[in-house]
Amino acid sequence: MLICEIVSVGTELVLGNTEDTNATFLSARLRALGWAVKFRQTCGDHLGRLTDTLRLALSRSDCVIVTGGLGPTYDDITRDALAALLGKALSLREESVEEIRAYFAGRGRPMSENNLRQAMIPEGAEPLRNLWGTAPGIRARVGEKEIFLLPGVPREMKAMFEAYLAPALAERSGGILCTRILRLFGIGESVLDEKLSAVLRESVNPSVAPFAGEGEVSLHVTCSAETQAEANGRIEEKLGEILSVVEEYLYGEGEDTLASVLISRFGAQGLTLAAAESCTGGLLSQMLTAVPGSSAVLQGGVVAYTEEIKEKVLGVSRHMLTEQGVYSLACAEKMAEGARRLCGSSLGIGITGVAGPDGGTEENPVGTVYIAVSGKSGCVSERFLFPVTADARERIRLLSAKNAMAMALKYAHLFQNESKKQGNF
Ligand code: AMP
Ligand code: MG
Repeated sequence: MLICEIVSVGTELVLGNTEDTNATFLSARLRALGWAVKFRQTCGDHLGRLTDTLRLALSRSDCVIVTGGLGPTYDDITRDALAALLGKALSLREESVEEIRAYFAGRGRPMSENNLRQAMIPEGAEPLRNLWGTAPGIRARVGEKEIFLLPGVPREMKAMFEAYLAPALAERSGGILCTRILRLFGIGESVLDEKLSAVLRESVNPSVAPFAGEGEVSLHVTCSAETQAEANGRIEEKLGEILSVVEEYLYGEGEDTLASVLISRFGAQGLTLAAAESCTGGLLSQMLTAVPGSSAVLQGGVVAYTEEIKEKVLGVSRHMLTEQGVYSLACAEKMAEGARRLCGSSLGIGITGVAGPDGGTEENPVGTVYIAVSGKSGCVSERFLFPVTADARERIRLLSAKNAMAMALKYAHLFQNESKKQGNF
């Protein structure tokens, strides 16, 4: 595989004032285009150090992509560093001058003379038109190798990458790299590793890599192939192998989240939802409302933090609270029913538990959470005991909200007229 190196230029990057989003973008795109990124460098706006940085990059990589430092001001010295490295003089390119003048004229803005610095290109190099801003990019060949300079502004950088670099790089790599992501919930990384041991260890192309998230795991299935069709075929085959073992945990693919899957699935089935949240304090509702289109599904909810509100607003009986306690399956069920009745929704969710750090008892230690889903024909509830780590409070709240969504997905069919269901989700 050919190697591409990314060089990010800017003093603000090395100081930590600006996050280097360009390198993240380029790494992901280069991978998809069949290039291996083995090194990245970040360098401040300093002629000597940047020249050294570029020299090192060219010495070990087949292609180098540099972003930043192409602007009009004195501190933008990337083009000077390239000229120094190539041992060429910078010369003013008329075609680039015209484009920069036209850019300002088109916007009715006066152009200061220093903007012409941007039309200075090392001799022998080729300017890349910037149709999205003023600073042209630069392409230079060094023997078999190539170096590209792109502006630092992420919007311009991305547009120029897609317009000029992506087609050239795809052609040269002679292949593509394609990744499909499976999203699983309700299975830990170690259990997954055990169940899928053979697939994880023996799969080379496509490779299968697990990534642990909060309460969930994703599996990245990556294939390098000459064509998209070939990659798709091989990935499909591998997905079949994986799903024959873990299909019951699959809730989505790619960019799906539990919240987005819940909203789209409930939306399609005409199901509505209401939430009664205690220890999550509205987190579940927040995660659901963050999904576009959630208004068709989530009707409303109550943050019922005290027993008094659980009683007065949700109709949880005093008797029940005294007999079974606020941390109980019964309380979660009454909360879920209360929310459903209050909002007139098809399903209600109730969450009550101990997020800590205080408030735990022997019976209900920190991390104990009761979650219920209520529908017209009944109610299901579960007790969870989440691990207590240093950041327990936030994690327990997040795991509660996620498990509540997983339960709603898992049990929704019980409360529908026709219950058709396969797998766990
Ligand atoms: P420059 O081309 O160096 O003048 O940068 C123009 C703008 O893009 C500045 O606001 C920079 O902070 C920003 N920028 C430069 N490099 C990056 C990068 N690698 N990631 C994100 N933003 C960047
Ligand atoms: Mg800069």
